[in-house]
Amino acid sequence: MVTEVHVPLGQKAYTIYIGFDLSAYQQQLNSWVVGEKVCLVSNDIVAPYYLSEAKLLFKDYEVDTFILPDGENNKTWENVNKLLTFMLENNYHRQSTMVALGGGVIGDTVGFAASIYQRGIDFIQIPTTLLAQVDSSVGGKTAVNHPLGKNMIGAFHQPRGVWMELQYLETLPEREWRAGLAEVIKISLVADGSFFAWLEENHAGILAREPILIERMIARSIELKADIVVQDTFDRGVRAYVNLGHTFGHAIEHVLGYGVWLHGEAVGLGLRMACDASQYLKAFPASLSKRVHELLDNWQLPKCLPEATAPHDLLQAMRLDKKNDDRGLRFVLLKDMEDPCVETVDNEAYLIELIASYQS
Ligand code: NAD
Ligand code: MG
Repeated sequence: MVTEVHVPLGQKAYTIYIGFDLSAYQQQLNSWVVGEKVCLVSNDIVAPYYLSEAKLLFKDYEVDTFILPDGENNKTWENVNKLLTFMLENNYHRQSTMVALGGGVIGDTVGFAASIYQRGIDFIQIPTTLLAQVDSSVGGKTAVNHPLGKNMIGAFHQPRGVWMELQYLETLPEREWRAGLAEVIKISLVADGSFFAWLEENHAGILAREPILIERMIARSIELKADIVVQDTFDRGVRAYVNLGHTFGHAIEHVLGYGVWLHGEAVGLGLRMACDASQYLKAFPASLSKRVHELLDNWQLPKCLPEATAPHDLLQAMRLDKKNDDRGLRFVLLKDMEDPCVETVDNEAYLIELIASYQS
């Protein structure tokens, strides 16, 4: 079965195809290509598995491939510049298309390059990680990191379409899989309580990657994300809710050093902290908070901070969060299932106590 999700963004509307074996939809994929030239970009981990297969999907076009080194620390302006130089040297004009084949790092880098090449050309997302499929490939946020901050240089640029070939997940390492599941829990809490209950019921089959469950889980997650993006494309309102657990999560990544924990692992612990804070500050029901902790446990997501993580360092890192404003530290909290809010929390003694409760 193939699931089709439409993102109704007016002139920037696009479709997402989700399924195991999308080959019957190759014509639709090709209809997203503008011009004759396709620049297919991947990295040195994903390319050996899937580049030749992906190239065949565009066999009627003139395809160049460009391979970046793997890793978050390659999501840089320097690599975007190399990519742009390659395209200029190979005579890419405005009627050309870029394709991102990889996880969120490739998707964000290629999307950003496409947003600025000759003032913006079209691009297609072919996400190959769970995180990229349930989150980063949809919504049009593109960026690279700056030495002074993650995702600090970027643009909103929607893809022309998103091709989620679920067979590509087969080679995804277990740890990356579990990290992606944290983002699935997050979107369910923010937007669909019955989906959260379904995740609980099917937690074992999902961890074991049963195809029927995977397809349903990814399709529902992305429907919910797309719905939020349509309401608030430029992240000035409700889109902040997809940051549940992320103020804590980003601070954990920052303090430990990027790459020590995966983003989804940090978000997993961040969700625990966000639920506790929601219980304390917003009367989020203790029974629901307990269920969230249990699902995170079942998916073996982190339960505590690494030894020697100082609560004050984490609090300091939270001050860097993009949601903060003159009022102080801002957090996404839950009043109830499907009922998020953004709140200023100025009770630093409480935050220190909360963080300390997760010290190992
Ligand atoms: P990633 O792109 O680094 O991929 C994780 C690892 O898996 C990498 O080593 C990658 O090479 C490897 N990999 C990818 N696909 C594989 C496959 N099919 N088989 C085997 N290995 C595979 O990380 P990610 O978790 O996909 O994405 C994280 C990035 O996404 C961060 O930079 C984050 O800022 C960004 N992000 C962006 C948005 C957005 O809205 N734009 C949202 C969330 C996250
Ligand atoms: Mg995230």
